[in-house]
Amino acid sequence: MVEKVESRPKRARKPRGEVYIEREWCKGCGFCVEFCPTGVLEMSAEFNAKGYHPPVVADPEKCNACGLCGMYCPEFAIWSVRR
Ligand code: SF4
Ligand code: SF4
Repeated sequence: MVEKVESRPKRARKPRGEVYIEREWCKGCGFCVEFCPTGVLEMSAEFNAKGYHPPVVADPEKCNACGLCGMYCPEFAIWSVRR
């Protein structure tokens, strides 16, 4: 007789993401910071060459690769990838 082995319930893996920012394309509108649902981004105190404040990744572990930052960016200056 084959003994049934109880397996542990599988934990759902959270999607994880990595965010990339092209600082020099940014116009500093802040949409990416505002619409990120997990608070990954914040505006930098530094300026880019055009005189705008680009975003920075303040809390990278919170990125779930939802892609909203890239969808809202009018300059295509930010995007995410799944890892
Ligand atoms: S991909 Fe989603 S969670 Fe990650 S930084 Fe962009 S908006 Fe935030
Ligand atoms: S949405 Fe794009 S242009 Fe606006 S602050 Fe973010 S990276 Fe810069």
